[in-house]
Amino acid sequence: MNESMTDVRDRVRTIFEPDAIQRRVRQLGEEIGAYYADRNDLLILGTLKGSFMFMADLVRHVTIPHEMDFVGAASYGKSKTSSGHVRLFYDPVTTMSGRPVLLLEDIVDTGHTLQNLVHLLQTREPASLDICTLLHKRKSHLDLEPRFVGFDAPDEFLVGYGLDYAEQYRYLPFVGSLKDG
Ligand code: 5GP
Ligand code: MG
Repeated sequence: MNESMTDVRDRVRTIFEPDAIQRRVRQLGEEIGAYYADRNDLLILGTLKGSFMFMADLVRHVTIPHEMDFVGAASYGKSKTSSGHVRLFYDPVTTMSGRPVLLLEDIVDTGHTLQNLVHLLQTREPASLDICTLLHKRKSHLDLEPRFVGFDAPDEFLVGYGLDYAEQYRYLPFVGSLKDG
């Protein structure tokens, strides 16, 4: 609590600097705008809470008309199998049926939550469903692989740029690895 920025720098080893993130996010936004260029009904759905900063920066570079909403999902049950269940603590009010939906994730680790969430969202019958993740640890085997990936990430516990540890560090403008101890 109440750590100064200097203390934070001692505890978090920077992996992706703010400039690198901003450059990559701009490219992703442009790629997404080009991919959906023939649509004017794109829905960008950000996963709570981790993707809020990514979403805010990304949408500034998606230069086609689109709407935004959020989805809050928590897994329960046997999450080590793809038959796990997902509970929505925020269910988007925006209609998904018949329109392209792009799900924005902060990070894909095991992919369990994402896998379950994708299955749930598919029941809403979007015209298409794709995933964009800022960070990908490349450990998961998803039925639906992310179409857009910001960075391959090391298999470490990452914080910053929306990612938290016990609700701390989300505000950091960089992504880093939390040091032990
Ligand atoms: P998964 O189901 O892919 O294992 O990850 C579920 C969620 O756990 C992610 O959406 C993210 O919120 C969180 N998570 C996974 N890896 C990390 C990490 O390295 N750092 C942080 N802060 N959260 C993570
Ligand atoms: Mg998350």
